[in-house]
Parts: sequence; structure tokens; C-alpha cells
Amino acid sequence: MEKYVYSFGDGKAEGSADMKELLGGKGANLAEMSNLGIPVPPGFSISTDVCTYYYQHDDTYPDGLEDQVNKALKQVEKIMGKTFGDSEDPLLFSVRSGARASMPGMMDTVLNLGLNDESVKGLAKLADERFAWDSYRRFCSMFGDVVLGIRAEGKDEEDPFEVELQKIKNKYDARNDVDLNVDALKELVTQYKGIIKEKTGEPFPEDPRKQLWMAIGAVFGSWNNERAIAYREINNIPDEWGTAVNVQTMVFGNMGENSATGVAFTRNPATGENKFFGEYLPNAQGEDVVAGIRTPHPINKEDEVEGGPTSLETEMSEEYTQLLEIERKLEKHYKNMQDLEFTIQDGRLWMLQTRNGKRTALAAIRMAAEMVEEGLINKETAIMRVEDPEYLNQLLQPVFDPAQKQKALDAGRLLATGLPAGPGAASGRVVFNAPDAVDWQKRGEKVILVRIETSPEDIRGMNAAEGILTSRGGMTSHAALVARQMGKTCIVGCDDLEINYKKREMKVPGGKTIKEGDWISIDGSMGQVIDGQLETQPSEVVQVLIDESLSPDESKDFHIFNEFMKWADDVRKLGVRTNADQPDQARGAVRFGAEGIGLTRTEHMFFGGNRIDAVREMILADDTAGREKALEKLLPMQREDFQGIFEAMESRPVTVRTLDPPLHEFLPHGKDEIKDLAKKLKVSPDKIEAKIDALHEMNPMLGHRGCRLGIMYPEITRMQVRAIMEAACEVKKAGGDPHPEIMIPLVGNVQELKLQEKEVREVAEEVLKEKGVQVDYKVGTMIEIPRAALTADEIAEVAEFFSFGTNDLTQTTLGISRDDAGKFLPYYVEQKIYKKDPFAAIDQTGVGKLMQMGVDLGRKTRSDLKIGICGEHGGEPASVEFCHRIGLNYVSCSPFRVPIARLAAAQAVLKEKGVTA
Ligand code: PEP
Ligand code: MG
Repeated sequence: MEKYVYSFGDGKAEGSADMKELLGGKGANLAEMSNLGIPVPPGFSISTDVCTYYYQHDDTYPDGLEDQVNKALKQVEKIMGKTFGDSEDPLLFSVRSGARASMPGMMDTVLNLGLNDESVKGLAKLADERFAWDSYRRFCSMFGDVVLGIRAEGKDEEDPFEVELQKIKNKYDARNDVDLNVDALKELVTQYKGIIKEKTGEPFPEDPRKQLWMAIGAVFGSWNNERAIAYREINNIPDEWGTAVNVQTMVFGNMGENSATGVAFTRNPATGENKFFGEYLPNAQGEDVVAGIRTPHPINKEDEVEGGPTSLETEMSEEYTQLLEIERKLEKHYKNMQDLEFTIQDGRLWMLQTRNGKRTALAAIRMAAEMVEEGLINKETAIMRVEDPEYLNQLLQPVFDPAQKQKALDAGRLLATGLPAGPGAASGRVVFNAPDAVDWQKRGEKVILVRIETSPEDIRGMNAAEGILTSRGGMTSHAALVARQMGKTCIVGCDDLEINYKKREMKVPGGKTIKEGDWISIDGSMGQVIDGQLETQPSEVVQVLIDESLSPDESKDFHIFNEFMKWADDVRKLGVRTNADQPDQARGAVRFGAEGIGLTRTEHMFFGGNRIDAVREMILADDTAGREKALEKLLPMQREDFQGIFEAMESRPVTVRTLDPPLHEFLPHGKDEIKDLAKKLKVSPDKIEAKIDALHEMNPMLGHRGCRLGIMYPEITRMQVRAIMEAACEVKKAGGDPHPEIMIPLVGNVQELKLQEKEVREVAEEVLKEKGVQVDYKVGTMIEIPRAALTADEIAEVAEFFSFGTNDLTQTTLGISRDDAGKFLPYYVEQKIYKKDPFAAIDQTGVGKLMQMGVDLGRKTRSDLKIGICGEHGGEPASVEFCHRIGLNYVSCSPFRVPIARLAAAQAVLKEKGVTA
């Protein structure tokens, strides 16, 4: 019989940490903690295989599961000396989800399971009457919500259980939940049961076993709830994994003043500082902290603020010391920052969960670097610790312009302060619910999502918002966790805000009311909410990177970042270049770590100053002589551009591409512009209009562009090559060491390249002779047409290098227009026709196959053929990994993505070696 159920508790377990696929992260780690002798309430995990079975067999269970569950229940009963369903001394359970990858709060949990009208009395006798009824009312509402699906229906509606709770609180004049007395709680239970009967037509189930199986079904069912699906989509978690179900003995943090519950991190998840950090609530259950219902207290004494709540260290020093020992032990064991959940029941500490904690990018780097210093991990593991190289974007995210922010503060525009949960700066218009955030963002609005607390339901809205602001919750609330992972600016626990969902407004201290659509700005590093819109500026890391006058030592953030990137550089095999068209961009990219230029789009230079006039003159010319006259005007300008770039890149290679886009892109639009141009060129507007008509193409992307221009008008290529080579000679003469690589775009047939190569070499040799210097140069081509990849062996006879233009290669392979895809491609991705947008991440099975073919065929002809990529994919981590695997020499991407590509390239090597985070 297949094994579906794995027991843990009492210092031993059937599972272990490496069984996450089967037991989910939570179950595997509970087993591991049990094996380590850490106090864990006993229980059992039902494997993810059962989840798969459940979905494949119409929500039914495999044979034998019930027996295995009964056996596991017996074992727990033995350990605890209690019986499930006993009304005198009831054994109660929590039933929780737990997938392979952590999906904080996205799936369902039921606590206090096993209570009914009889056992609540037993529990009251054994413990405390108030506690028993408090547990019972929590169970009723949770069961109603999670298992029976009774919850707020519309986006402005409130949860019916919450509404009832408020009513009772008002009736009994209770400010907080803890102020409700036994009578109030009893009344609440009756009302909750009434809601359940009314909404489902069935009474609340009193039979504990029925409760258990219903809860197990609900947890499996929650794998496919809307928010879990959204979370998987955003985080690329496969739908096939499924969740495990963990059934675990309840321990109570709400058993009176000697009880508490909390969440802690072994190091600070926002800054990475090596300091135990956490929050707790006395006399409360775990969900209160995580869901942010009450703003929690600090764990450490030194985090206490004057007049604020006292810490766990102060209140329960013995348990605090024990917790410290456990957190050290766990971090050492897992060699990673742990996110812990604990409960103290009547003076006894229990661990409910441990997992690798989510963290900001800076924290990830800092922790990884410090753990290397501490000898906990090696550099290779450290490099894998920034689990997604995209996270580096966080370090490159803008901050508010300090002067403008100070001015706003001086002008009294500080609205409120909360906890700095996710760093960065964001300005946006206020919306009060997640669907609106999504809708407004689709309309092109920047929004700040303001909620009393975010629930996992809000995940899409959080993703759509620039920033998130909540009035409740601590640094460990869902809002904070999810925001940090998404790299969103976030402030939580801003309890001075009085948010009214119905009116779509919030009152701030001092009486001002902020309405939906008003602009606010949030500083997620300081926790400040500011009225109005503020300008942003580059982050500290970026400032050092782009401002050559700043010393890298001035920024600690930069220092940490830079050292870490050096480790990545030591490991990676792929080179990383940048796409840049201007000397300042090129210099910036070098500071970001670029080792060369992989693409200079010469046409971008055509728009500066009054160059466009000369370009237009060239296009409008009737014959070669007319074109050459105009090109002569362009020559010195292009030469100057190239000279600047060669100087900026010093001895690094610079790939310059000859003219690529269809010519009509350079022509004027609209009557006035045409008239202006006619005047300047001393021709009639009619002539210009006629030329525009003549250049009109049905499919310009497949029309007269790329090398087809240079073939029809060789004088254009010749002028550009002259400009490149003259610039290189000048730089060389001045003591520089330029390495131009001249690249011909959109080649599909070796004959095209041959014709262009002949022009290039003729002019290049001419210039070298004229200038009397020697400059090494290469002639190569882009591979961006399927035919080029298919005949790469022929093309490599001529080309000294290839660069995959994957923007066009994707367009031409998929037959999807780059410019028109927006109308349907998002839907395609939603439908999983393509798993990711193929213009962002290489379609490895299709386009990737052509690339592999291009590499193999090209190197068959020329074994030392240098091959790179310069499409947008060159800075996308999964595509970078693919480029590594198929043996490219380098990737080239926009300057800001250079660090991401460097890290992705290093991780690609380590993944091949089997190194994990
Ligand atoms: C490409 O097609 O991938 C490329 C880099 O060229 P462009 O985007 O300029 O067409
Ligand atoms: Mg292209």
C-alpha cells in the first residue's frame, strides 16, 4: 500500500527536510524540527500525491488514506494522552496547507478543529471559560469562511463574521477582541452558527471527524482558489505540484497572560542585519500576528519604543532565552535565514513552523556575504541566494529626491507614519481595493493600494500597484512579506489612518481626508506617508554607479553590492555586454560591469540636433549623387558619436550595426512638419508627400529595411563604415585601443552578407590606408531571420561573429508582429499558449531551437566563431541561462540590466554544477 500519511512529534518523525516535494515545505520542516529535538506539537502530513489524486479523481481520496489517517491520529492521541472527539478533555487540531514552495497565506488554514457544543465545556473546565469560548468562536468563523466559503462577496463588502463581531463588540462596549467577555463570546458563537445555517442551509457540523475530513477537503481545494492561482502565476510555481495537508495538535497562545504567539526572523529580512528580529502578541493566536489584525509587539527589548508595548524579552525572559537558542540552532542547521512561527502555551514554548525567510535584495546579498564570512556557506551558495536575479532591480529602484521630500515635510505634508516594510519610493493615486488597483493600472494610472490589511486575495492588486499602504499589521504581516518579495514599496501598521472602504476615503491625523484618486507618496524605507506627488531620483547604488565623481566607498549599500557582483563575475563563463548608443550610456554601463558593447543602433543617432534634416535630405534624394551629398553632412556627426563611444569603452569591443529600420520612420508626419521640411530643403511639399507615399509599405517590418537598405543604397553603408573607421583611427592615434565590430542586420542569405562585407572591407581598408594606422576590426552579422539560422554554416564562411537579434528572430519565427502583439499576446500568455511573453523570455522550444542550430552550424564552419545575443532577452535571467547552455560567448542588454545578466550568468554555471540556494 502506498504511503500517504507521515507522522511527526515527540522527538521523531517519518519525514525530513528533503521531502518537500511530498510533504510540502511546512510538513517537511516540521518533521525536520521534530528530528532535531525541537518542541513541535505532534501531528501528521498528508502528502501532495493525495492532492494530485484528489484533483484527478473528482475530489475523492485514494484507498487506504482513511486507515492511515486513523492510525496517525491514534499515534498523536498516544503522545498527547488525549482522545480526538473526547468532550471532557478534547484533543484539538490545526489543519493547514503546505506546498513545496512557500505561498504565504494563499491557501487555507483551520484552527481549533474538534470543538463543538460539548467539548467547549470540557475545555472550559480544564483551562479557562473565556479561553474556551474564544477558541470556539474563532473555529466557527474560520470553518465558515475556509471550509464553507462564507465570506465578503463584493469588493466593498465586509466579511459577515467580521460584521457580526463588530456588532457584538459595540453591544458589549469592547474595544478589542480580548475585551469580549464569556457572554459576548457565547452570543457570538450562536450568531456565527446562525450565519452558517442561513448561508449553507445546513447546521454547523458538531462531529469532529466530519469536521476533520471537511477541513482536509477544503485545504486541498484551496490549491485552486483564485489567489493561489494568481500567486503561482506571478511566482512561476507549476500548477501540478499540489499542496500537502498538515494536521497538527493545537497549542494555544490565547490561554491567558502566560501565553503568546509570534513570528520571528533569524536575521532582519529588510536590511539583512544579523540580528534576531520578530514580533509577537500576548494572549493571541498565530493568525492575529500574521493577518495583521492587531499591530504586534517587538520580541527584543532593544526594539521597544518609549510608551510602546513591552517586548517578549521583558515579559517572558525564560521563554525568550529558549527561543534564542532554538533560532540559533535552526539557522545553523539550515544555513539560511529562517522565518519562524512560535506559540507559548501557558509558559511552554512550541515551534509551529520554520522556513527560509523572504527578504529584500539588499538583505539577501548582505546575509549571503556575511554567512560566507561566518563560514556557514561558501561563495557559490551565496551567489544562489539571490533566488531571482531580477531582485537586483530593487537595489536599482529610485528613491525620493531628498530636497523635494524635505520641502514637503517642512510644509506639513507628512500625513502619517507606519512601519517601513518594503523599501523604495512610490507616488501614486489612492485606490482602496485590489480590483480597482488592477483596473486603474491597466488604464495607465500609477496607484497606491491602501487597505486596512491586505489579504492574500489582494495579490493581483498588490502586483499592479506602485506601492502598498496598510493601517494594520506588522513587519511580518502578509502585506509586508508579499510586498518585499515583489520588491514593492510598502508601509504597514499605519494605525493612525481611518480607512473607510464604503466611502472610499481615509482620514489622517489632523482631520484631513484623502479620497480615492488623490495622490500620495510613500517612503518605504522610512515608513512615511506624504501628501501629493514627489519626484524620484536614482537609488544610492545607482548614484554611485552612474556618477563617476562619487567614490564607491561612500555607499555601504554599493560596497555590499559590488563585492557580491565580483563573486558572480569570478564564476560566470558568459561575457556581459551592453546595448548603448551614446558615450554617457556606455560609461554608465561600464560602471554596471559591461565588458563591451553588443549593439549600437546607429539610427538612434539620427534624431539628435539637426541631423534629422540631413537624414531626410538623403532619403528624399532622387539619385546616388543626391544621397551622397546628404551623407557627407552626416559623416562628421556619426564620426564624432563613434569616437565618443570608442573613448568611453577604452579597449573593450564595440559592435556597431549599420542602418536597420525602414526609411519612412525618419520622414515627417503631418502637414506642418512636411511644410517645414519642404522649406528647409527648398522643394515643394507635394514632392515630399509623393516620396512618403512611395516609401509606404504594407509590412514595413518585413519590407525595405536591414541589410536590404545597404544593398540597394551601398553609399549609406559606405558612409557609416567610413565614420566608424575614421573614429577608430582618431582614437587609436590619440593613444586609445578601439575594437570596432561592424555588424550587418537582417541577413537571411549569405549573398546579402557577401555584398555588404565587400563594401565594408573596401572602405575600411581605404580609411586605414589614408590614416596610416592599424586598427583591428571584425565584420559579422545579426542572426534574426530563421533562414540565417538554418544556413548559419554558409553565413559563417563570411561572418567573423554572430549576434542573435532575438527581437526580430522571435517576430519572424513566431510570425507575430513585435508592434501588434499587445492586442492578443497577454491573453495567449494567460491561456498558457506561451508560458511567458516570448518577446521578454526566449521561446526556448521554438526560437531556441533555431538558435542552437545557428550556433552548431556556425561553429561547424568556423570553430572560433564569436556568438552573442543583443535582443531584449539578453537581460532576462531564464534567457541568459539558456544562452549559457547553448554556448554563446556573451549576452548584451540595456545598461540597467547588466548586473542582472552578470548574476544570471553566474547562476547558470552553478545550476549546471547542481549548486542550490
Ligand atoms: C533584434 O531584432 O533583436 C535587435 C536587437 O534589433 P532591433 O531590436 O533593433 O530590431
Ligand atoms: Mg532586429
